[in-house]
Amino acid sequence: MTVHGVETLLTESYPYPELVGDQLCNLHVRPCVMIPFSEAAFPDLMDAFRAEGSSPHCHEGTESASEENDRLLAHVDDVEAFFAGKLWTEVLDPALSGFSTELVAAPYRDTTFESAIHADFSPRWKIEAYLFTTEEPPAELEAIREAKEKALRSLRDGRYPTERTAEHRLAEIRAKSELFGYPDCCTEQFLEEREDRFDVLLEIGAERIEELQAECESRSQLQSAFESELEAQGLPLQDLNVESRIVQQLEYVNIGRYFEDWSEDELSEFYQQKSRDPLPEFFYAFFTADFYPHHPRCEAAIEVGRRIESTLRESDPALVPLYRATLMTNVFSCLGFDDRQVHRRLLSDTIATHDDKP
Ligand SMILES: [Zn+2]
Repeated sequence: MTVHGVETLLTESYPYPELVGDQLCNLHVRPCVMIPFSEAAFPDLMDAFRAEGSSPHCHEGTESASEENDRLLAHVDDVEAFFAGKLWTEVLDPALSGFSTELVAAPYRDTTFESAIHADFSPRWKIEAYLFTTEEPPAELEAIREAKEKALRSLRDGRYPTERTAEHRLAEIRAKSELFGYPDCCTEQFLEEREDRFDVLLEIGAERIEELQAECESRSQLQSAFESELEAQGLPLQDLNVESRIVQQLEYVNIGRYFEDWSEDELSEFYQQKSRDPLPEFFYAFFTADFYPHHPRCEAAIEVGRRIESTLRESDPALVPLYRATLMTNVFSCLGFDDRQVHRRLLSDTIATHDDKP
């Protein structure tokens, strides 16, 4: 299957063209990919489905959190229909063909560490567009929908995560990993790490996190208060963080050898000039943005990454530089160097190359 229409992605207002490029390259090999919508890009629509005066610290005269969850769940079909339309007007070129799409929307209360530190437990929408090459939607989609709804319904008082919530979230991750064709060894490692995070969060308790939120005046103060809380329990944040594990492993494969003592400018230059040259093998383990290999030298992950490139080389060679730029973005974002502007320039270059084709 050839991916047409990548060039139109940059002209649209969709905020993440590089993410769409990443996913479309992958669709040549993996059975299904997912493009998330940013809720923030659609504030008016979301306001229509929110309770008036709904706020985590203010419940007087408003519906309970459980009632709010139920009301949002009743709107799932409307929200999915709205975004199904947006997918073809704001994200994908209608000329793109050869695959089917399905929208999965769900109200969501974030119970991850990031949310505990940076946000409250008020509800948001998560809207995901699934692209697949079969006519019938994959069976896993129903499991994902179900897991999302069950996770929301399992919250104590409609807001606080329970052990059941953790189980449903892990079930969702497992179903997605199968659907996206992630290697089993990487999935198992990731699930284990996520489970550890849930255990710690449940151990500390959401109420304690709310106490810390009320006590602290700034985000950084809250961050350190939260980390102290973790350390007091003998659970340093870095040991529970998939990204930290990946950074350590990248150091172990001596990634510094390639970029030793470089400034961001130098790194940026390398990124622009070398993306068309062969990359170190472990880059191929980072074949898509939301995937964490169990190790950068995971053979199964590298195999998927290489297969995508060789398939692209046969079907649409002009997309190979875009794919390599994506691999680099994914590795660098793990390292905390996340230059999306550079990636967009590469995307533009790729498109220029594409247009020059006879
Ligand atoms: Zn693996």
